[in-house]
Amino acid sequence: MDCLFCKIVKGEIPSKVVYEDEAVFAFHDIAPQAPVHVLVIPKKHIAACADEINAGNSGEIAKVFEAVPKVARACGLTNGYRIINNCGEDACQTVPHIHFHILGGRRLPERMG
Ligand code: 5GP
Ligand code: ZN
Repeated sequence: MDCLFCKIVKGEIPSKVVYEDEAVFAFHDIAPQAPVHVLVIPKKHIAACADEINAGNSGEIAKVFEAVPKVARACGLTNGYRIINNCGEDACQTVPHIHFHILGGRRLPERMG
């Protein structure tokens, strides 16, 4: 499948890995928007954003969220962080493999939109 993040999971495209288990992969964003900017994704290709979460794939999504505290710890995010899913055009989503941004490492802007 011609999916950028599936290629990153398979190691076909190199990435700076933060955390990995049987279901979840987390890696540094190539264009960080905060001192820590990590993408957490299910290894399984789930298209494309939060809008498509359903009873059939929510187990994979739950595994992603179970990994979030481990990713945060691995990144030294002891004072908080933000989790973002850009879903669709109005949110400027660019990669159609569901992913959650973890941003932190400094006081983030109060406004999000
Ligand atoms: P979206 O805009 O879809 O929510 O987020 C996609 C993210 O993937 C962007 O923040 C972008 O910087 C990141 N990204 C795009 N291509 C690559 C890549 O090849 N490697 C890594 N590590 N991140 C990428
Ligand atoms: Zn994919």
